[in-house]
Amino acid sequence: NTKGRLVVVSNRVALPRQTATGGLASALQAALHELGGLWFGWSGKLAAETGAEVHRLHDAKVDYATIDLSRADHDDFYTGFANGTLWPMLHYRPDLVDYQRSHLEGYLRVNEIFAQHLCKLITPEDVLWVHDYHLIPLAAMLRQRGVRNRIGFFLHTPLPAAGLLIALPNHRELLETLASYDLIGVHTTRDLRALEDYFLHEAGASMRLGGRMRSAGGRIFRAAAFPISIDTAGIARTASDAGAHKEINQLRTSLDGRALIIGVDRLDYSKGLPQRFEAFARLLERAPELHRQVTFMQIAPPSRGSVLEYRQIRRELERSAGHINGKYATPDWAPLRYINKSFPHRLLAGYYRTARVGLVTPLRDGMNLVAKEYVASQNPDDPGVLILSRFAGAAQELTTALLVNPADTEEVADALQRALNMPLPERRDRWRAMMKVLEHNDITFWRKSFLSALTEKAPVAQRRV
Ligand code: UDP
Repeated sequence: NTKGRLVVVSNRVALPRQTATGGLASALQAALHELGGLWFGWSGKLAAETGAEVHRLHDAKVDYATIDLSRADHDDFYTGFANGTLWPMLHYRPDLVDYQRSHLEGYLRVNEIFAQHLCKLITPEDVLWVHDYHLIPLAAMLRQRGVRNRIGFFLHTPLPAAGLLIALPNHRELLETLASYDLIGVHTTRDLRALEDYFLHEAGASMRLGGRMRSAGGRIFRAAAFPISIDTAGIARTASDAGAHKEINQLRTSLDGRALIIGVDRLDYSKGLPQRFEAFARLLERAPELHRQVTFMQIAPPSRGSVLEYRQIRRELERSAGHINGKYATPDWAPLRYINKSFPHRLLAGYYRTARVGLVTPLRDGMNLVAKEYVASQNPDDPGVLILSRFAGAAQELTTALLVNPADTEEVADALQRALNMPLPERRDRWRAMMKVLEHNDITFWRKSFLSALTEKAPVAQRRV
């Protein structure tokens, strides 16, 4: 193969025929199928030693290579630094950052092991695409080993402003390694500005033409915004076929003509769930005429239970849900259905379509695919209304949603009232405008834009003679 393969690297690998592969996994899968390639990452399993062996699998033009992690590496790298330090930092929550030097050491150790294995798995023509905050220093470690391939990075979280990033101990040591990539992709122009600001004002880089930067070490690299998306047509089809599933009919019957408000989020503190519950309680408090007329269903599968804050927020939501139902429920109506379980897309799409309102109010979110899926799932003749946090990346594209500040529970309650009363022509106009955006920028467009920017011929000025 003279053209070189695509090599995708991510913490988790979606192995063939595994359940619950999300939109991103299928997008990467599709890219690998088209170009032929390799997917490398953690197997999701623990073993006595990290990376003692590489598990290989081949399926339909795609090679999979995964390694296990030791318990200690998993705790320091994944639970500790990635999810205990970087995740809260990247979601504008320095108050929740738990920094321990041993966690950073574990993070660097696992990245080194990834680099060691990758070096042996790639050829000089391959194009590498590294994903997310777990693997920031990977390219720098590969470069140290003499790797000169094109390497791209995509950050799936937000990137906060430089003033916040500098609160991270050893931030330069970590963030400067991003300059070892050829292309850094983020979701929005706000994230892009933050990245440029950090490099220019904290890391001694300078700006070059065409969105390029020159790092303090003299390396030329490029950063750009590529808002991730969904399989718009596929989800629209799934949603319109979902009526055939008995679960969808069971939900409809149980609603008994009431309007449904839906929320679907991993149980994560970035999703603004306590504030969302409070806003719904405000709605019930101020609009007695809505009692027994509306049901709010919040699907919230538990996530990262090994991190303390996730266990705490789970308890907090249980209290709040119990309180709301205790206060407002009647013998034939519970206002809030709170479900700590995950559902497959085939059902989610039908639930979205049944809901008059999609309530998506994260405090911060890189993109938020649920917002896009809600829109794509609507019935064009009678679409529901999306209420969307201004602090989700999706708000930069879905500008005809009802945009809210999730911390302002009165504003969210207002939006809920407005959405529940919105006349059909306005619902249609708002929905059509959002759908148009998603039909253009779907998941295929996203990955093609990134990969063509990554593999673009370097301009003459950038070539090293
Ligand atoms: N999801 C799912 N089943 C569930 C809950 C969520 O398949 O029970 C999917 C959801 O449809 C979406 C993804 O998980 O595709 C969540 O992506 P999003 O960007 O909204 O949030 P993240 O979890 O990545 O922070």
